Amino acid sequence: AVLFDHQALRDQFPALKQTIGDHPLCYLDTAATSQKPQAVIDAMTEYYQLNNANVHRAAHQLSARATQQYEAVRQQVAEFIHAQRQDEIIFTHGTTESINMVAYGLTSQIKPNDVILVDTAAHHANIVPWQELAKRTGAVIKPIPLTTDAQLDITAFDQLLALKPKVVTLCHVSNALGTLNPVNELVAKAKAVGALTLVDGAQAIAHLSVDVQLIDCDFYVFSGHKMYGPTGVGVLYGRYTELDKLTPMLTGGEMIKTVSFEQTEFGALPNRLEAGTPAIAEVIGLGAAIHFLQQLPREQILAHEQQLLRYLQQQLQQLGAIELYGITNDKHSGDKHCADGQRHNIGAVAFNLQGEHHQDVGILLDQQAVAVRCGHHCAMPLMTSLNLGGCCRASIGIYTNKQDVDQFIHALNTVKELLL
Ligand code: PMP
Repeated sequence: AVLFDHQALRDQFPALKQTIGDHPLCYLDTAATSQKPQAVIDAMTEYYQLNNANVHRAAHQLSARATQQYEAVRQQVAEFIHAQRQDEIIFTHGTTESINMVAYGLTSQIKPNDVILVDTAAHHANIVPWQELAKRTGAVIKPIPLTTDAQLDITAFDQLLALKPKVVTLCHVSNALGTLNPVNELVAKAKAVGALTLVDGAQAIAHLSVDVQLIDCDFYVFSGHKMYGPTGVGVLYGRYTELDKLTPMLTGGEMIKTVSFEQTEFGALPNRLEAGTPAIAEVIGLGAAIHFLQQLPREQILAHEQQLLRYLQQQLQQLGAIELYGITNDKHSGDKHCADGQRHNIGAVAFNLQGEHHQDVGILLDQQAVAVRCGHHCAMPLMTSLNLGGCCRASIGIYTNKQDVDQFIHALNTVKELLL
């Protein structure tokens, strides 16, 4: 049962109040980007109206205010993900940039034939930068296979660890399927053979309480826009010692200690990895989003989301002629997010209408104001492993309610009757 006032929470998202044609907007594409609460929009507006100045430089009041606000968010993020120190938090433009900074930054530490293990369910943002690193260094990429029910294959993972990989990169939650990796267990195993670990938290951060010290990964990355914050800002968390070894991908102002034409000395973290003027308004917006989330009863919200997702899965199953992908409710232990011993999907359901092209289904749903994502979800190797050309994905957020699911199922039933 929902104990908090869910409608009051939903009312804080202005975009959700609109109608499209004759229908209320049914936004089931939160995994692509979430809608923003008024508090985030207001925080960014206020910065531009009152405090707009560059950070870290000037002696004047506005710059001092902007710098204070910007740096306060670093502290906020550190607390939010339980980092040990705030200089382990690097602001980037998003998950993609964060992973690129790690993969580029490791170049001098990687040698020919070093092995890099990549989750088959990874988003392209967590594949291509490693391929580029492999091209530069002669390292070898090995995919970590999935089981037939689209879970990371832990037996195969254990076997691959015998290769003594230098890097293991995983998704926390798959963006295409909503499957959850037992990252604590996987990272511990990778560490035991001396690998550096990166966890892509883009799809986890808005749903789960993330504790980077508990996960014990070397790097954890996510985007602001998938956690009710603005686009254009993301986070690279890194264990201080490992972060400090990364070669900066970007160089220039703000990241230096001294510059002469003979030689430049880089500054200390976090500035060393934040060249140039950062996305100040967006960082402030991210801070407002975190504040917004922290004021909510997160356990109850997660329970609400889990209940809604199960309802969504059941309704899809009952509709008939639907194929579902990566649905998990098998017994699983050892991960703190599986307290009841079940491994759940988080935030998203992937499906196809039997025999129909996902794109056709998406277009017909859109005509009924239902927004879902259709395609390969930037996870082509995953689609290949599932033997799929693509699929539809319905994804939920804190504001999604039962009416959304019912509107979606009703619309999908109409599509089914039209096409089948
Ligand atoms: N990884 C995952 C798991 C994602 O879901 C996404 C966004 N779809 C990304 C990486 C890339 O994030 P961004 O586009 O914000 O850089």
